[in-house]
Amino acid sequence: MSQITKQQIMDALSQVKGPDLEGDLVSRGLVTEVVITGSNVMFGLLVDPDRAKELEPMRVAAERAVSEIEGVDKVMVALTAEQKPSNGADTASDAPEQGKAPASGAIPGVKHLVAVASGKGGVGKSTTAINIALGLAALGLKVGVLDADVYGPSMPRLVGQPTLPDQDPHSQEKLQPVTAFDMKVMSMGFMVEEDTPMIWRGPMVMSALQQMLNDVEWGELDVMIIDMPPGTGDAQLTMAQQTPLSGAVIVSTPQDLSLIDARKGLNMFLKVSVPVLGIVENMSYFKCPNCNSRHEIFGHGGAKAEAEKLELPFLGEVPLDMEVRQRSDAGEPIVAFDPDNEISAVYKDIAAKIWASIEGDKVQKPKIVME
Ligand code: ADP
Repeated sequence: MSQITKQQIMDALSQVKGPDLEGDLVSRGLVTEVVITGSNVMFGLLVDPDRAKELEPMRVAAERAVSEIEGVDKVMVALTAEQKPSNGADTASDAPEQGKAPASGAIPGVKHLVAVASGKGGVGKSTTAINIALGLAALGLKVGVLDADVYGPSMPRLVGQPTLPDQDPHSQEKLQPVTAFDMKVMSMGFMVEEDTPMIWRGPMVMSALQQMLNDVEWGELDVMIIDMPPGTGDAQLTMAQQTPLSGAVIVSTPQDLSLIDARKGLNMFLKVSVPVLGIVENMSYFKCPNCNSRHEIFGHGGAKAEAEKLELPFLGEVPLDMEVRQRSDAGEPIVAFDPDNEISAVYKDIAAKIWASIEGDKVQKPKIVME
């Protein structure tokens, strides 16, 4: 099979009309970088963020035009914008409709979706997500990891920068995810260069996320861990609402400020009736590599106290540890590469608690009062 070229893609897209049926996608300069991986093609279309929903048919038309090129198996097109949203205020139009029930359309073959979230960035959410996923896999479960943090995807780095596989010839339909440590992993970071200046807003994030959920060959999974974008804005709220989650895990550091953010995270999930499975305290204390003693730099224990106050399970505390950082930044997550380490044991214990609560259905669901 001959190599698909960017020129072929651009030729096909020059046949697709732009917004308001004026010009075509190429002459109007709306096509972002095109990524060709074997028989898979991915690219973005730059649109006015406020028109993302309305322009969905244009996205579908672009997808169809490229999928008709000989040799192309799978096409992923995301609507995106280069313009930077100003401090959250202008995301109001992306707010989910009030009172709308969470989506119930589960992903075929995937038993549970669990979100890992944090009120703010930098608390170690992604590191926690990958190690919990590995902990679940260590229980013998079939696990997938979806990096929904399209603002700053970190899964590629955490799993050692693999590239998307060529399309499986037996699977004509869906995009094959990466397999890392026996888990299926998907991230926007596999599709675009790390320093691509793409700023997403609510509807576009959902468009990318829905495609990663529905157009990827996840196969049979016991559980999929979703690494959410940090924060509790409207985009995250919409995501929590439109993804059929079994539950959510909140990662926090012990500092007060972070706990305030954690509380916001909790409220976000409560608002859309997603059960919160518990809180993980990350960077809980510093484990000195020389003297092996504990140093409670951030005043350890805040998350546990907070969890008790909020009547939520406390899932565990992960120390601030040099090996965790080095391994996570080197793409060698500790649970996979040092499974007997005591910190790996902490992650595995957290994973076991999560599995028990989603499978055992011991999670407190919103009460139904019969009158
Ligand atoms: P987030 O997803 O919340 O932005 P990351 O998981 O990317 O955070 O972690 C941010 C940084 O902190 C990374 O360099 C990571 O290696 C480091 N880190 C996360 N958890 C720990 C930990 N328990 N001990 C040491 N470093 C950690």
